[in-house]
Amino acid sequence: MTQEATMKKTREFQAETKQLLDLMVHSIYTNREIFLRELISNASDAIDKVRFNSLTNHDLLEGDDQFEIFLIPDENSRTLTISDNGMGMTYDEVIENIGTIAKSGTRAFLEKLKERETSTDQELIGQFGVGFYSAFMVAEKVTLITRAPGQAKGVKWKSTGDGTYTIEEIEKEKRGTTIVLALKEEFRSAEHGEENFLNRYTLQSLIKKYSDYIRYPIRMNFISEEKPKDAEGKIIEDAPAKQTVEVRTLNSMTPLWVKNKNEITKEEYFSFYKDLFHDWEDPLEIIHSKAEGTVEYTTLLFLPSRAPFDFYDRDTTAGIRLYSKHIFIMDKCREILPEYLKFVRGLVDSPDFSLNISRELLQHSKQLKLIGKNLEKSILKTLENLLTKDRPKYETFWKEFGQALKIGIYSDYQSRDKLKGLLLFPSSQSPDGLTSLEEYTGRMPEKQKVIYYAAGKDRASVERLPQMELLKEKGIEVLYLLDRVDEFAIDALQEFKEKKFQSISRGDLQLDDFESETEKQDAENLAKDNESLVKAVKDRLGDKIAEVKISSRLKTSAVCLVSDDNGISLSMEHILTEMNRASFKAKRILELNPHHEVFAALKKLHETAPDSDAFTDYCDLLYTQALLIEGLPPEDPIAFANKVAKLMAGNEKN
Ligand code: ADP
Ligand code: MG
Repeated sequence: MTQEATMKKTREFQAETKQLLDLMVHSIYTNREIFLRELISNASDAIDKVRFNSLTNHDLLEGDDQFEIFLIPDENSRTLTISDNGMGMTYDEVIENIGTIAKSGTRAFLEKLKERETSTDQELIGQFGVGFYSAFMVAEKVTLITRAPGQAKGVKWKSTGDGTYTIEEIEKEKRGTTIVLALKEEFRSAEHGEENFLNRYTLQSLIKKYSDYIRYPIRMNFISEEKPKDAEGKIIEDAPAKQTVEVRTLNSMTPLWVKNKNEITKEEYFSFYKDLFHDWEDPLEIIHSKAEGTVEYTTLLFLPSRAPFDFYDRDTTAGIRLYSKHIFIMDKCREILPEYLKFVRGLVDSPDFSLNISRELLQHSKQLKLIGKNLEKSILKTLENLLTKDRPKYETFWKEFGQALKIGIYSDYQSRDKLKGLLLFPSSQSPDGLTSLEEYTGRMPEKQKVIYYAAGKDRASVERLPQMELLKEKGIEVLYLLDRVDEFAIDALQEFKEKKFQSISRGDLQLDDFESETEKQDAENLAKDNESLVKAVKDRLGDKIAEVKISSRLKTSAVCLVSDDNGISLSMEHILTEMNRASFKAKRILELNPHHEVFAALKKLHETAPDSDAFTDYCDLLYTQALLIEGLPPEDPIAFANKVAKLMAGNEKN
């Protein structure tokens, strides 16, 4: 510690912190009682930390292993004090953890707050977990006094939440952190009943409500005054009252998951979830089970109602908390569940885990693998049940986390069979809802050989695709793949119940059984009659395309581009280009609609002036139109514009 650090210093909060504090102080009006839950949960985390670290370094305990959290409401000073004998903080740690918001979430929190369209402030606070600062919702001044084990001096931090704080070194005997809240007027007067945070019974019920299962005793002194009694048990009225102080433990300390399911209320589960995982919203689904056998464990898992704001751009997983015989061992264990289930929050408690298990050891732990397999199974089972028994709930889940499952299918081949039944897509036959593959195949007429899909950016643009025309006419259902990952997932899956997936923009549509003999004959004749035209078009377009075909899928459009069944599709190429991975190219096949008037014009030109510039221009224009329809840019926009202009002027002359 440098010399100057020992003097009292005033420092500024980081800009983001200032904004956040301002919000805490001025904008949040409901549920301010959660500050207590936040501070208790920090105290409990700090005790977890010192206890865990003391397993390898006993000196950290400084002879004090009676872990506890203490509440002192004081009418005289109008303060509420929360103290713990946890890990405490060093001078630098206080600046790092309390003065600045290093957490990347905060910036995003503030941005979200500016948008403010959907969520309320309350939901946001939960989502982003801005714990400590919630103290400023109820306090006009917050003083934090802390000492880390092994440090000679403690640190005193003080702020009114107005943009600056002071920090100085002080003496502190006991290890740990004490937070003193100078309560705002409205939170310390009897008038406010429920929100009087100096009232012991209010505090007691808040602890019961939010922090009952905290593993360390949360204690408070209850003071009662009683006049002494005489030998007959009668109160002696003129004697001075005697004060008795009774220390009560406010929480039951029983970990929630240890209790029997039928002894736990929904509210208890919900409150436990919100506290442990810093969520504001109730979870969508709870999985609570005990297993005995080759491995013994208890698990309590939650499916959140909403994906965290950065769920899809973060590569970290929420992870599962591990406990051994109710003792916390590890936060965010990623090794237990497969990546595609990274949205699941929860914990596993098993006597088979060793207390000082390291992450390296963990990766090779057989028990962990076995437990992980079981958890995966029960999560998937839960999702399957939701899908069939509570469709609206499942669709809520799907909207938030469906993408994770689809990425799973695409990136983890072992997951494919397990996940395909859980997929949902919009389709041409479900204008409002979503359909599962099971439902789709259930509706397929017997003569339909494949599952059709169309990829695009939204329903309207898919429905306008020229390639949809024939399928629409035949009344065949088409799945709409509107998510970027969809087509990659379907491509990885290849088939469902032995029915292959078929893009409406790729290869042969396999509609033989939907066509009459004469239709087939007509198609064959058309192909034969136009062989030389097709060859000439291909010739003019050269390497730009792999093939030219007489189309059977087009009804009103003149042209379309399709790709073959191998490699990537045009829409996948489009996505990869956007991701700067343009080296992948789809094989382009240009299809011409033989029934379109442009086709007749082209044919005529080919017969009368096959070597003319006009014929080459026509080929080029048709190809560029097909590109535009696919959302791809013309290769030479200026040349394209000139050719169109020339054509228009020419028409005028005729
Ligand atoms: P979170 O708990 O999600 O990390 P908080 O805002 O609640 O966020 O707390 C910020 C940090 O301040 C904590 O991560 C911890 O390092 C530190 N901290 C807060 N309260 C305590 C405490 N009672 N003892 C030790 N450290 C604490
Ligand atoms: Mg916290």
